[in-house]
Amino acid sequence: MKILIIGAGPAGATAARLLSKNHEVTLIQDKEWDKPCGGGIKRKIFKQMNLDENLIHHYIDKVYMIYKNEKIPIDLKGKNLAIVKRKEFDKYLRDLAVKNGAKLIYGKFKGFGYEKAIIQRNGKKELIKYDLLIGADGVNSTVRKALNLPPIPKIITHFAKTTQYKVDTCEFFFDFNLSGKYYAWAFPHLNQTHIGSVDKKSFENLCKYLKISVKPKGYFIPTWQENIQIQHKNVYFVGDAAGQVMPLSFEGIYYAIKSAEILANSIINNLDYKKEWEKRYLKKFKFMKMLEKINKTKLRSFIVKAHRLNFVKNFSVSLWLNERN
Ligand SMILES: Cc1cc2nc3c(=O)[nH]c(=O)nc-3n(C[C@H](O)[C@H](O)[C@H](O)COP(=O)(O)OP(=O)(O)OC[C@H]3O[C@@H](n4cnc5c(N)ncnc54)[C@H](O)[C@@H]3O)c2cc1C
Repeated sequence: MKILIIGAGPAGATAARLLSKNHEVTLIQDKEWDKPCGGGIKRKIFKQMNLDENLIHHYIDKVYMIYKNEKIPIDLKGKNLAIVKRKEFDKYLRDLAVKNGAKLIYGKFKGFGYEKAIIQRNGKKELIKYDLLIGADGVNSTVRKALNLPPIPKIITHFAKTTQYKVDTCEFFFDFNLSGKYYAWAFPHLNQTHIGSVDKKSFENLCKYLKISVKPKGYFIPTWQENIQIQHKNVYFVGDAAGQVMPLSFEGIYYAIKSAEILANSIINNLDYKKEWEKRYLKKFKFMKMLEKINKTKLRSFIVKAHRLNFVKNFSVSLWLNERN
């Protein structure tokens, strides 16, 4: 079968890698870019997907929850959080796909015509035939737009890289004025720190709090909902283009890769992708959505402070770490 995948981020590149063993796969990527990101990912993905741990530049075994100037340490029960550089990580995943036989084309998906995909490259438009198409083109999915499907629900986040504030582990900020309805964060990177918060005002307050001055850029991140359509006839969606970002924690990389694995497995074994995804993740996503709602209320201060207690810390870390696979 001819499979055309639009977008070669973690979701698209992984789907291409896994499907190219059994199918003729073409992977379309618009540009080489460094996706704005904290780069934090559950370390277990490296074993699960047989990825090279040399891509990890920080191994994190403890994070801090910060609220009203109190820093609550959370022990992650080992070096279970990995930090990667997205440009390198995404390229590595694409290289694996190509090694497995996928054809990688740098070009931009523009829409559909005559039951083919319109791809623009080197200033020219060409039509590519496919039997099955995968939209892995991120939160602003052009494939969704071309099919007139509702856009992915999302929120804006503000992001910057700075050398003015140094961290050697991940910090999460929960004061409402720094993080709005969600959380703000600072992650260690090579010679710099990646920081982010939601709306611009919260980001400015975060900078004041950290005593730094940086200009952020705004990017969208999906807010998962149960009713997001992830298939339309022979077109499937995965990763951010399917809204598959964990509520509350906003982990997108891990779930983009794992959802791509579920999709590839469903295509290869002729299974229902939506059912397979729901079997694996629906319960957890719904539970986290409920916690996300609570986090938006005044109960947040109570929950954050409860993390002073070891059994609460243990519960949160187990929830984060332990799920099937
Ligand atoms: C500021 C910020 C910080 C984040 N931090 C984290 C974090 O620390 N940990 C975490 O797990 N998640 C994080 N996320 C979320 C994470 O980045 C995404 O969930 C993840 O990248 C989703 O992978 P994906 O492959 O679905 O989409 P993407 O990574 O967005 O990949 C989509 C690809 O499609 C390409 N593309 C788009 N349109 C077209 C087109 N028309 N034609 C061809 N190609 C196209 C793009 O260039 C891109 O490479 C963060 C997000 C933001 C905005």
